[in-house]
Amino acid sequence: MARYTGACCRLCRREGQKLFLKGERCYTDRCALQRRAYAPGQHGQQKKKMSEYGLQLREKQKARRFYGILESQFEKYFEMAASKKGVTGENLLQILETRLDNVVYRMGLATSRAEARQLVTHGHFTVNGKHVNIPSYLVTIGEVIGVKDKSKSSVKFKEIDEVAGARVVPEWLSFDSENLIGKVVALPARDQIDLQVEEHLIVELYSK
Ligand code: SF4
Repeated sequence: MARYTGACCRLCRREGQKLFLKGERCYTDRCALQRRAYAPGQHGQQKKKMSEYGLQLREKQKARRFYGILESQFEKYFEMAASKKGVTGENLLQILETRLDNVVYRMGLATSRAEARQLVTHGHFTVNGKHVNIPSYLVTIGEVIGVKDKSKSSVKFKEIDEVAGARVVPEWLSFDSENLIGKVVALPARDQIDLQVEEHLIVELYSK
């Protein structure tokens, strides 16, 4: 399945929730969901009763779109989560949260996850001092994520710092804004992940 290239705000309106896909615009009153808080399309304002499958599907799509993951990769993450000890739904969110592109976004080094993915792909980051350009790289406790020296002084990072620098970094990460270095101090607990999703419905969907 190809990556979605349509209007991002339609995705938030479809899920009825802010997915923060458009950078700083999402934090302002220009957010489309604030202006049109109903699903897109001709019948978007109609109230429909959703089937059990429909509810499960919507929760899966919400999580997938929030993190910008393709369907096949999302399925692989589910299998990975199911094979780990613990609650599968929480494992799944933890895996998604520890993707390098998400960590870069969480540290305020990108205005959106899509931008974070692009910056990682373009080789601006290191993990434990080694160059990593794979957005799906899963970070683990103790790993240090940094911006490459050459990139630190770039206009791009100065611009990002102006808009995203004030973002609150989650407790499971530490971040030194002077040196643009972050560390994974713990794995994210469910209550530290701000995605409003009923992950047990995703588990039910894939367990059929
Ligand atoms: Fe979603 Fe951001 Fe668009 Fe608002 S501005 S609808 S949060 S992508």
